[in-house]
Amino acid sequence: MPSKRRSTKRPYGQPHPEFDANRGRGGGARSETGPGGEEYLVAVPHPTDKTYVCPSCGRDIPPQTAHLVAWAADGLFGPEAAAADRRHWHTRCWETFGRSRG
Ligand SMILES: [Zn+2]
Repeated sequence: MPSKRRSTKRPYGQPHPEFDANRGRGGGARSETGPGGEEYLVAVPHPTDKTYVCPSCGRDIPPQTAHLVAWAADGLFGPEAAAADRRHWHTRCWETFGRSRG
């Protein structure tokens, strides 16, 4: 009896503290074309007390600064891993990244 391989999804039990990435599209995250022309999911994180570094300009994103997070929509290791590897961007940097020259 042949068994079809199905993509196994692990049950969700650990909601991200910043936002609910599991809700994905339509639940706060939106799909956008990001660096390299790939599809990314973008969401606005809740304020934290962490400082992040913007991958576009290399500058800090201080706490309480409005910014966004983006991660590959089609991650190699699944949406959860991709979301865990998300990057924090200045909102303006994301909007202008790769779009200012054309
Ligand atoms: Zn930036």
